[in-house]
Amino acid sequence: MKSARQIASDVQSGVTTAAAEVAASLESIRARNDELNVFLFVDDAGALEAARRVDERVARGENAGALAGVPIGFKDNLCQLGVPTTAGSRILKGWLPPYNATVIDRVLAAGAVPMGKTNMDEFAMGSSTETSAYGPTRNPLDPSRVPGGSSGGSAAAVAAEMTPLALGSDTGGSIRQPAALCGLVGLKPTYGLVSRYGLIAFSSSLDQIGPLAKNVADAALLLEVIAGHDPLDSTSLPEPAPELLSHLDDGVAGKRIGLVRELVEGAEDEVVAAVHRAAQALRDAGATIVELSVPEFRLGLSAYYLIAPAEASSNLARYDGVRYGLRVDAEDVAAMNEATRTLGFGAEVKRRIMLGTYALSAGYYDAYYGQALKVRTQMIDAFRRAYQEVDLLLGATTPTVAFKFGAKTSNPMAMYLSDVYTIPTNLAGDAAISVPFGRGESDLPVGVQLLGPGRSEAQLVAAARVLELADGHS
Ligand code: GLN
Repeated sequence: MKSARQIASDVQSGVTTAAAEVAASLESIRARNDELNVFLFVDDAGALEAARRVDERVARGENAGALAGVPIGFKDNLCQLGVPTTAGSRILKGWLPPYNATVIDRVLAAGAVPMGKTNMDEFAMGSSTETSAYGPTRNPLDPSRVPGGSSGGSAAAVAAEMTPLALGSDTGGSIRQPAALCGLVGLKPTYGLVSRYGLIAFSSSLDQIGPLAKNVADAALLLEVIAGHDPLDSTSLPEPAPELLSHLDDGVAGKRIGLVRELVEGAEDEVVAAVHRAAQALRDAGATIVELSVPEFRLGLSAYYLIAPAEASSNLARYDGVRYGLRVDAEDVAAMNEATRTLGFGAEVKRRIMLGTYALSAGYYDAYYGQALKVRTQMIDAFRRAYQEVDLLLGATTPTVAFKFGAKTSNPMAMYLSDVYTIPTNLAGDAAISVPFGRGESDLPVGVQLLGPGRSEAQLVAAARVLELADGHS
């Protein structure tokens, strides 16, 4: 499949048309969507209309945008005007958003072609896309295995070459982990860099939207388009989008990169081996690798599973059977609320709501939620100290390669551990990227993670590019 950059340049120069690119994308969606369950909604009409507009602009000699004619998939927690948006939940079945998320407006303005909404763990709670109310998504590289989650549909869309680009969201690892399991590049931007206006909220102090792509340049391109201040999101940083593509070939010469013990401990041998090979590749490119220990990272999972459910229990209170989607009628309002939420939410979402409500309840607030906030502060301090010594950190993205369906569904702790290396970045509000590096069991991809301080996206992209080249990509 051509890269997004190549498609945009070919569409602009008339080598191909947006209509032809859309036709090819629709054909690959039709070929495998029944088998893989990637798209919950295929936006044929929207795609054809957007392609027609792009082709008209090109015909008029206008600049059709940085993503001219590039097919893109949207995680189903991104609101798109008039397009079914469920967040993978039965409770939002049939709901049509009355507006576009800012990221959707921005990619459309840049000429991208919306192909539809991708499957996800319900309300982004999960690491395998198995909690979706609409059935799991299969990993295109091995359909007996999960694609990761919660942005599993977005990752599978790109891995199956249905679209060269997709948008995901990352609250504790949901872009980077599926990217790792599907052999893709996934970037979790600095908190506030990308507007969340129109993102269905899970945990508002952690959620960020970001790109999934086949290569580092395409991920950088998409992030350049979606980043930058948005007055509609009060947490949006008051600055323009960073320049990333111009830093793609900056390399890592002279950089100090910390290989973090806690970001590989407990990983499968092949994952550990990939991280060590990545360290060597960065060293060969002129970086100094420093072995580091950041013991605070071990506390990330515990703090996350108090903070994220606490915020979720509050964010999900709005699904009451009155304002959105599903309603189960009953004799009075309270009974209607209860019946709607009982039927509308799946087991994992209910587990999180109960955990979060408990952590916030009078008498337990200080012991649980308050304590988790203190751990979060320690985490932020630990990162700050690490970044006084090194420019970036290196570790695994996730402890294992793509696992089989059902392997972790009966044990929530085992599932939660999928994100043990990705969660610290979310708690700190920093940036990190997962890049494929080599292969493991059954020839499945292994992801390596590079972490940086807030606003370090240009450095992360440059370092990831070094690894991509060392891994044999052009
Ligand atoms: N797997 C983690 C969870 O279930 C992270 C999900 C995410 O980043 N949205 O909460």
